[in-house]
Amino acid sequence: MSFIRALREAAEEIGPGIVADRRDIHAHPELGYQERRTAAMVAARLRDLGIEVRDGVGTTGVVGVIRGRSPGRTVLLRADMDALPIQEENEVPYASRTPGVMHACGHDAHTAILLGAARLLAERRAEIAGTVKLMFQPAEEGGAGALRMIEEGVLDDPPVDAAFGLHVDADRYVGQVALRAGPAMAAADSFTITITGRGGHAASPHRAVDPIVVGAQMITALQTLVSREVSPTEPAVVTVASLSAGTTDNVIPAVATLRGTVRTFSPEVRQQVEARLREIAQGIAAAMRATAEVSYRTGYPVLHNDPAQVELVRAVVGELLGPEAVVERGPVMGAEDFAFILQRVPGAYLHLGVRNAAWTVPRPVHTATFDLDEAALPIGAAVLTATALAFLAKGPPGHGGGA
Ligand SMILES: [Zn+2]
Ligand SMILES: [Zn+2]
Repeated sequence: MSFIRALREAAEEIGPGIVADRRDIHAHPELGYQERRTAAMVAARLRDLGIEVRDGVGTTGVVGVIRGRSPGRTVLLRADMDALPIQEENEVPYASRTPGVMHACGHDAHTAILLGAARLLAERRAEIAGTVKLMFQPAEEGGAGALRMIEEGVLDDPPVDAAFGLHVDADRYVGQVALRAGPAMAAADSFTITITGRGGHAASPHRAVDPIVVGAQMITALQTLVSREVSPTEPAVVTVASLSAGTTDNVIPAVATLRGTVRTFSPEVRQQVEARLREIAQGIAAAMRATAEVSYRTGYPVLHNDPAQVELVRAVVGELLGPEAVVERGPVMGAEDFAFILQRVPGAYLHLGVRNAAWTVPRPVHTATFDLDEAALPIGAAVLTATALAFLAKGPPGHGGGA
């Protein structure tokens, strides 16, 4: 697959444009389902490249369709466009101009990288057998934007045969790509427990039912879900991340609210934790004369990388960047809504190293000082482009193909 090495050079040539796009998006971050400026920019760029565009998919999502010269399979490449409610602390010329909103998860880079890949692919349309679909989605950060776009047909017409996406990886260095076959990221659910007691004077606790004390017992008991109930060989996390109750120091409130997240890999453990969380909350509330209402919301599924597609990416990255560029990645309890896509079509999610070799400590995502080494951007564009072309070059299973 000699076209792969040529792509590295082609991507470096358009690198300054990818960096400029990333900085423009970085300076103008938008929260989930509000990515109007970003979506308009994406749609305009795609149209300039002569790519067929559908916008307003799943509110602010954009789909580009590149039809090759001859028929073949369809491969989807995906980027997310949303930012986070964080006040940026970096002092750089392209820092966020929107107070309290920041591209702290690198989705600005994902969008710019996919626009770069769009350009490389559009220029090679004559060599493509099949179709490349470009998916720019809203609201990855908890809003399940991928699911909304699936419901509005992003995987249909033409039906998608495989899907690939990437996320910046602040722990890996520029030039590295981290891969994992099989289950790679956890299922993420969330819960709210509303504890209702009886309010009263803080000096007369015997006349009240104190929901704060009930909540304290519950938080402690919920720790035993992972330590005493789930098999020690099964990964699981239960975190109570929010406790709110009361307004002052001499009033026992009537209501306390706990909120948190549950992360699991196995469907059985997921069900077990939900069922026991409900029983523990309600049992403790009843024992202490209060009531508990449990609202449990099923979130993103486990992200499952298809082993055959991971092998395809491994070969592509090896050819593009050298075999030492591929690093193995362990499973993580973080979640990712690309999992909804990989539930329906085979594919792989890769992690692109963005750490500068001179940085003594990583600059982690979801922090006010996150940043990335922009040398990774053309590499990302080359990897996605090469992966799409390599997938299409293989042709349908059993047909041999020209790869
Ligand atoms: Zn994130
Ligand atoms: Zn992210």
